[in-house]
Amino acid sequence: MQYDLHAHSNHSDGKLSPTELVNLAKSKGVDVLALTDHDTVSGISAAVIAAKTCGLLLIPGVEISAQWESREIHIVGLQVDAGNRILQRRLASQQMRRRKRAVAIGESLANIGITDAYEKTCVLAGSSTIGRGHFAQFLLSHGYARNYNEVFKNYLSPGKPGYVASAWVQSDEAIQWIHEAGGVAVLAHPTRYQLTSNQLAHLLSTFREQGGDGLEVVTARHDSGEIKRMARYARRYGFKASVGSDFHGEDMHPLGLGQLKLLPHGCIPIWSHWSDTQDEPDFSNTAG
Ligand code: AMP
Ligand code: MN
Ligand code: MN
Ligand code: MN
Repeated sequence: MQYDLHAHSNHSDGKLSPTELVNLAKSKGVDVLALTDHDTVSGISAAVIAAKTCGLLLIPGVEISAQWESREIHIVGLQVDAGNRILQRRLASQQMRRRKRAVAIGESLANIGITDAYEKTCVLAGSSTIGRGHFAQFLLSHGYARNYNEVFKNYLSPGKPGYVASAWVQSDEAIQWIHEAGGVAVLAHPTRYQLTSNQLAHLLSTFREQGGDGLEVVTARHDSGEIKRMARYARRYGFKASVGSDFHGEDMHPLGLGQLKLLPHGCIPIWSHWSDTQDEPDFSNTAG
């Protein structure tokens, strides 16, 4: 079984519609896909319909931007009830924060002579959850950089003119939101936070204390050394292990869909959480 439990559609900063994403995943051999758009579950119902049509198991998910100490982390909620009104209201508060941040990013870019960035980026984003990915698109289409890496490096990363910190929900609260919507909370892309080993250990132990359930052990960007290291951390801190590509679109990704490595032996897969009710949980994508 091929699992991919972290992917984006154009309901946030992904390129494909939920239906296109599901169909592409199916064609690339993914059996179980989670749609985890940034701070929204608005794409889930279309993804569920597409998944039923093509015979893929769709896990409803969300990726919540959260505050941990003075940093921003991303928490993936899996198997959440996308129809839960309380969750939807809570996510709407995050979207409000995203709007405010987008206005501030526009002002900050105006200060270096890039005018109308907010207005034009809003047009690009349409009804999607607005994010830095849309500003990246705007800046690229106006010739400010040659590719996504460059536009993030020069404009949208901390310390650069198009970066504005936002006051996201606290991590313990985000975990609670996910639990109250019936889901499990997974720390996304743990190697992306630019933390020292000690800082990462501190993040993992507090995330666990706050009720976090899982850790992304396999991602598209983890090499085999990082996968082994994250698998050790998952065991040490008592996390179940997740597998997610963080797919945003074919031209925006180091690996295609369906190319993720297997979970190392000894990891407890996060999907054991929701396959516990089945007679025989399927752990067949762990390496033996
Ligand atoms: P936001 O949640 O709006 O702050 O945007 C975060 C998103 O920006 C991530 O989910 C990625 O899609 C994208 N992103 C962040 N850093 C980079 C980067 N260095 N290169 C390309 N995309 C990036
Ligand atoms: Mn993104
Ligand atoms: Mn993320
Ligand atoms: Mn993501």
